[in-house]
Amino acid sequence: MLRCDQIRRRFQGPGGALTALEDVTFAADRGELVVIQGPSGSGKTTLLLTLGGLLRPDAGTMQVDDQDLYALSTAARSRFRARTIGFVFQLFHLVPYLSVLDNVLAGLPGSVDGAARRRTAALLEELGLTARLAHRPATLSAGERQRTALARALVKEPAVILADEPTGNLDPENAALVFRRLDAFRREGGVVVAVTHGQDAAPHATRTLRLERGRLAGSLPLSR
Ligand code: ADP
Ligand code: MG
Repeated sequence: MLRCDQIRRRFQGPGGALTALEDVTFAADRGELVVIQGPSGSGKTTLLLTLGGLLRPDAGTMQVDDQDLYALSTAARSRFRARTIGFVFQLFHLVPYLSVLDNVLAGLPGSVDGAARRRTAALLEELGLTARLAHRPATLSAGERQRTALARALVKEPAVILADEPTGNLDPENAALVFRRLDAFRREGGVVVAVTHGQDAAPHATRTLRLERGRLAGSLPLSR
């Protein structure tokens, strides 16, 4: 389903080239919630952006549903990403001037029809946001912001959700809620990859990997 093979990514810094990812290989199937743990600076965000088609690797391939993401044109990759991949970030990245409802509807790649509106309403109800539909992000608690961001990722019914420290700014109750919903998503056949420096995600993982200085511990080339 999701498969990356020998990914390498370097950045040019003032002191020369810095290797953020080296020889990263892994695959995740439907129904998996893979947690990648690693300290700050180990390459977690770089890996997640690469998995999501937002950052081209210097070497290696990245496939989602047998589609090689970086073989697509930029426009085609954007369309593919909009349909297939939902992102959840530590700092939520909601649109400040849109309401909760409009932030979530903005997660839909196509036009918004009646079925989409009903699905959105049900999701917001499930996430306890029905009383907040008209609120703007600035007037929400951190937990409500992250639930809104989660709804925005889920509403398009993506194949994959990529989460970058999704509970890093949440209290334990909201953190548990976020992982319970991600767990339900993967049980329905979705794939989740969550990266985190903490331990809070581990109980929800079907598999935990470790990233150290850009290398995945135990990472082996996949057989072809
Ligand atoms: P993490 O998310 O695990 O904290 P990152 O993926 O953000 O780690 O960063 C990994 C390494 O790559 C760090 O040393 C960081 O400074 C470097 N890095 C990340 N993005 C850039 C960039 N755009 N330009 C230069 N260096 C970067
Ligand atoms: Mg990071």
